[in-house]
Amino acid sequence: MSGSLNPAPEPRSIFVVEDTADVARVLCTTLTNFGFRPEHFLTGRDFLHRLRSEVPALCIIDLGLPDMDGIELVRKVRQNRGCPIMILTGRHHVTDRILGLELGADDYVVKPFEPREVVARINSILRRVDRARCEGRGEHRIACFAGWSFTVDCNRLVAPGGREVELSLAEARLLEAFLERPNRILSRAQLMGEHELESLDRSIDVRVSRLRRKLQDGAAAPELIKTVYGAGYLLNTPVEWSPE
Ligand code: CA
Repeated sequence: MSGSLNPAPEPRSIFVVEDTADVARVLCTTLTNFGFRPEHFLTGRDFLHRLRSEVPALCIIDLGLPDMDGIELVRKVRQNRGCPIMILTGRHHVTDRILGLELGADDYVVKPFEPREVVARINSILRRVDRARCEGRGEHRIACFAGWSFTVDCNRLVAPGGREVELSLAEARLLEAFLERPNRILSRAQLMGEHELESLDRSIDVRVSRLRRKLQDGAAAPELIKTVYGAGYLLNTPVEWSPE
C-alpha cells in the first residue's frame, strides 16, 4: 500500500466566458498547455446554465458580453456559487474593473494580455483560495465515513486510498444531507432540501445514483447509499464530524 504511486491529480476546470473567438482560443490553448481543463462559453447565459451542473476551480469573465452586463454576471456568480473570478476587460474600462473587484472578483487582466501572465495570476488566486478554504479560519467541517473524508467548505471528497473525487455542487449538497443524518431513511423531499437549485431538471434519483457511483471504491466495497423502496434513501455507515 505504502509503495503505491498517487494518481496524477485531475486537471482543474476553468470556465472562460468570452465572446471574442480569438481571445478565447488563445486563453483556452494556454490553459490546456498549463494543465487546466478550460471550457469556453460565448454568452453569459450559456455559462450560467453550465454553472448549475459544475462549479469550476475558477472562472474568467469578459466584462463586454453580447447578452449580459459582465458586472451583473460577476455579481450573480459571487452570490450563488462562490468560485473565484478573474475579470477580462478593455483598457478604458477602469471603473468597470474597480466595480468588478468591489463586487467580489479576485483579480482582473486588461486586454491585450500576455497569456502566461494570466496563468500566473490564476495560479496565485487558486493558491490563495485553497489556503483560505482548507487551512482556513477554523470553520471548515470534515466528515469521515467508511474511510472516506468530505470537507464541506471546499466540497473536497477523498476516497479511502487518497484519490480525490470530483463532485458537482448538487452532488456535494446531497452528500452533505446524507452525512448530516446517517443511518436514517431520508425521503426525496428531505434530500432536495433547502439547498435545492432552481430549475435543476435532473431528478433526485438520478443525482443519488451518480453520487452512489462516485462513492464506489472498488467492486468489493459495500454500497454506502441504500434505496429504501417506497420511502427514500439511507446512508449506511456511521459518520464522524470534526469539529463536532
Ligand atoms: Ca467582449
